[in-house]
Amino acid sequence: MISPKIQDAINAQINAEFWSAYLYLAMAMHFEAEGRSGIANWFKIQFKEEQAHAEIFMNYLNSRGGRVVLSPIDEVPQTWESPLAAFEATLAHEEKVTVLINNIYALAEAEHDYATRGKLDWFVSEQVEEEETAKNLIDRLKLIGDNGLALYMLDQELAARVYNVPAPLANA
Ligand code: MG
Repeated sequence: MISPKIQDAINAQINAEFWSAYLYLAMAMHFEAEGRSGIANWFKIQFKEEQAHAEIFMNYLNSRGGRVVLSPIDEVPQTWESPLAAFEATLAHEEKVTVLINNIYALAEAEHDYATRGKLDWFVSEQVEEEETAKNLIDRLKLIGDNGLALYMLDQELAARVYNVPAPLANA
């Protein structure tokens, strides 16, 4: 059985993961409309990954005899000035998610809930990757500047991104 405190924290995180999914889906739709289908593809995969994160937490809560509570998803922005602005918003958002994950980690330690702490290890590493990837794309977009051909090539590259089921779900 899981403590009410941890259950509430995980339910809040499930909502945060769905909000992330919704944010990235909005970005995908924005860039699709802008004719940047590669960038749209990248964000669509990001959307799927965030849904998977929510699913991992839901499965975990169920496995501990907890109760998943799905609360309303807050509104997300709908437009971004440029690909650079969207990836900067992505990095800023992922940095916030990292704080959320760290907070649950600290709560799990305080509550001596080592199963939850262990479950969070994968998310801790995942956040390092999320931040690194966004940072890398920001760096490249800054180099690209207003070079249309370079941006076209990056768009083509991001079109090749494919979805891989995250390990905790693939092994579930
Ligand atoms: Mg996530």
